Amino acid sequence: MHKSNETIDTQGDTGGFFTIAPVDACTAPQSLLNFSFGQLEQILVADGLSPTHTRPLWRRLHRDMDPDLLVQASLAPPLQRWLTKHLGQGGRFFIDAPSEVADIASCDGLTRKFLLRLSDGQSIETVLMEFKGRHTACVSTQAGCAMGCVFCATGQMGFVRHLRVGEIVAQVRHAQRALRALGHGGLRNLVLMGMGEPLHNYDAVLTALEIIRDPGGLNIGPSRITLSTVGVVPGILRLAQEQQPYNLAVSLHGASDEERSALVPVGRRWPLVELMAACRSYCADTGRRIFFEWTLIAGANDSPSHAERLAALLAGIQAHVNLIPLNPTVGYQGTATASEAAKAFQAVLQKASVSSTVRQRRGIDVAAGCGQLRADKEQVRPRSS
Ligand code: SAH
Ligand code: SF4
Repeated sequence: MHKSNETIDTQGDTGGFFTIAPVDACTAPQSLLNFSFGQLEQILVADGLSPTHTRPLWRRLHRDMDPDLLVQASLAPPLQRWLTKHLGQGGRFFIDAPSEVADIASCDGLTRKFLLRLSDGQSIETVLMEFKGRHTACVSTQAGCAMGCVFCATGQMGFVRHLRVGEIVAQVRHAQRALRALGHGGLRNLVLMGMGEPLHNYDAVLTALEIIRDPGGLNIGPSRITLSTVGVVPGILRLAQEQQPYNLAVSLHGASDEERSALVPVGRRWPLVELMAACRSYCADTGRRIFFEWTLIAGANDSPSHAERLAALLAGIQAHVNLIPLNPTVGYQGTATASEAAKAFQAVLQKASVSSTVRQRRGIDVAAGCGQLRADKEQVRPRSS
C-alpha cells in the first residue's frame, strides 16, 4: 500500500498526534482550492496584483464554480493575465476536479454515492443525502484511515494518506454541482463522516471548512456543519480552545474501555476517562452539546445494560445519541441490531433523560457505510492484522 510522506509532529503538547506538511510540498503545482481567502489574497499580492482582485476570483472559484476560469472575459485584465500565466498545463496552480468513477443511487432515490478518483489514483467516497427536500453532503477527509475500527470498511483498508484542503473542498463542489444539475438549490448541511478521521488531518480539515462556510462562496454555515471524530482527545480540546463553531459528533460504540477498544482500537490510546473529560471541557468551553454516535451491533453493544452504562457515562453532559444499526462489511462478522432491540435500547436512554435518534440505514443498497463503495468497486480486501 502507498505510504504517505507526511511526517508526525513530535513537538508540542499533542502527544505527537497532529501531522505537519512535508517541506517539498510548495514546489509542486498547487490547487487554488487549497487556499483560504486570506492565503489567496497573499498570493495575488505577492505577484504584484491588487488585493481587490481576490473577491472576484474567490466568487468565480467558490460560488459560481466555473469549470474554466481562463475563459472568463469579464474578469479584470490583470487577473485574466495572471490566470492565463499560472493556471493549467505547466503552471503553478490548478483546480481540483476529481473524476467520477461511480455515481450510484439508492432504490428510494434519496441517497447518491459518488466514488471520486484523485490525481494520484486514490479514490474516495462522497455521499449526497436528501431529508425532507433538504440536502446533506457527507465527505471524506482521508484516503483510508489509521484508526482501524473493526466494523468499518475504511478502517479495514488501513491508512493511505491525508486529503489536501482542495480535495475536501472539491467533494462539496461535486455534490453541489450534482444538485444544481437536477435543478435543486444548494446544499444545506455538511457532515464529515465519510472516509477518514477528520481530527487526524486537523489543519487541512479546518481550512477546508473555513472555505466551505464563506458566505461569498459555498456558504454552508457552521451550524449546519458536523464534524465526527472517533475520539481524538487533543483534537477535541483544540476545537474547544480555538472556539471552532461547528457541531461535534463523537463515536463511542462502547461504554467501558474493554468493550470500546475491542471495536475502536484507538480507545486504548485515549481511554474513556480522558475522552469524557475532554467532552465535558468541550461542552463547558463552547456551551454546545455533543452528538454521540453508537453503532448498534447485535449481541456486542446493544443490550439494555449497555444502554444503562452509556446513560451513566453521559450523565451531566449535554448529549444527543445517534444510534446507527451496523452496515455489514466484508471484514467484520457482526450483524445489525434488529429494530425492536434498537427501540428497547432507546427506551432505556429515554428513561435516563438522554435524548437519542435511531438513524435510518440510508441507502443500504448503495453500500452506505463509509468506505464500502470503494471496497466493493475496487475489491479492496481488508488488511490482515
Ligand atoms: N472517523 C470519524 C468519521 C467517519 S466514520 C468517526 O469515526 O467518527 C462516521 C461514522 O460512521 C462513525 O460513527 C462510525 O463509527 C460509523 N460507521 C463506520 N462504519 C460503519 C458501519 N459499517 N456501520 C455503521 N456505522 C459505521
Ligand atoms: Fe476511521 Fe471513523 Fe472508520 Fe474508525 S469509523 S476506521 S475512525 S473512518
